[in-house]
Amino acid sequence: MAETRFASLTEACINEKLIEKAGQIIREGGLVAFPTETVYGLGGDALQRASSRKIYAAKGRPSDNPLIVHICRWEDIGKIAKKIPPEAEMLAKAFWPGPLTMILEKTDAVPAETTGGLSTVAVRMPRNEIALALIKAAGGYVAAPSANTSGKPSPTLAEHVREDLSGRIDLILDGGAACIGLESTIVDLTEDRPMILRPGYITREMLQQVLGCPVDVDRLFTGREPEQAPKAPGMKYRHYAPEGELTIVSGSEQDVTDTICRLAEEKMRAGVRTGIICSKETRQFYHADHIEVMGARDDTEAAARQLYAALRCFDSKEIAYIYSESFPGAGVGTAVMNRLLKAAGHRILAADNIKNRRENT
Ligand code: AMP
Ligand code: MG
Repeated sequence: MAETRFASLTEACINEKLIEKAGQIIREGGLVAFPTETVYGLGGDALQRASSRKIYAAKGRPSDNPLIVHICRWEDIGKIAKKIPPEAEMLAKAFWPGPLTMILEKTDAVPAETTGGLSTVAVRMPRNEIALALIKAAGGYVAAPSANTSGKPSPTLAEHVREDLSGRIDLILDGGAACIGLESTIVDLTEDRPMILRPGYITREMLQQVLGCPVDVDRLFTGREPEQAPKAPGMKYRHYAPEGELTIVSGSEQDVTDTICRLAEEKMRAGVRTGIICSKETRQFYHADHIEVMGARDDTEAAARQLYAALRCFDSKEIAYIYSESFPGAGVGTAVMNRLLKAAGHRILAADNIKNRRENT
């Protein structure tokens, strides 16, 4: 493919001509990266087989990993989904436009390429004026996975998209930083009970409150190597990963800081470039080649916003080993820990254990 064009715009003042041009590119089978409130998406026409194939090729994404179809009006859902349960409308009323994806039975209008061969389709209406205008201009149905090279952290800035996909797509729309910073919550509505397939900004409690019934969680996505594949095919792949080896250290604050200091010091003494992910409160205790501060200890929304940019920063500084504090907490904290664990390949060290082991030897 030839050159990738780059254009900036703002949500407050949408450049109609630019959006019309971007919509035309998608209608004609091309690819446009665009901002959403979760992360940047790589958009193609969801109803054209060839567009979905192009998306997989540009990202290097396995073709059994289905794409989320983005719409801009509730009325449009009937073309791509059937047997829509009342729960879908309840959730749409409460959370759309917003960071929630629903899995529903697909219609014949959606090609198998878009859904990775599944008989279901993932649907979302994003909360970003640029995204909504683009979807409308593109004909109403935009397949858009995160606009990163497969396996890398999702892009939260247009610059990240440029790093990964320059020369592979037609246009990048720069609308500034993604305000949530983690991918949407995915909820499956095709079974008897709703089930969360991927945690996100919309939590289990928020879903249960709206639906007035229990919502299950696909525990398989949290496992190291589940015997059965998780229901969202994408959750089985190594994801969100920096190039360096990331280890999460858990335990009491004192044990965690002591352990990270010691591990980082050992690596740096051996001449290996080392990084640390920590909170504002503990920053003062650390020395490393690069340190990323996620925000205040209990500000999980700040951690969500900053995590992917931080992981990319370690790559740009060629950091070989990264030690991270863990960021448990309510709300979006579950999603932050889910992505951090995946980025670390589930490498998690209990700070106490290391200390005890050392004292015994
Ligand atoms: P991304 O758009 O890059 O955030 O990835 C989309 C995620 O949605 C992946 O984890 C997919 O496996 C998941 N997904 C998309 N469609 C379906 C579907 N029909 N059933 C289950 N998971 C899906
Ligand atoms: Mg993705």
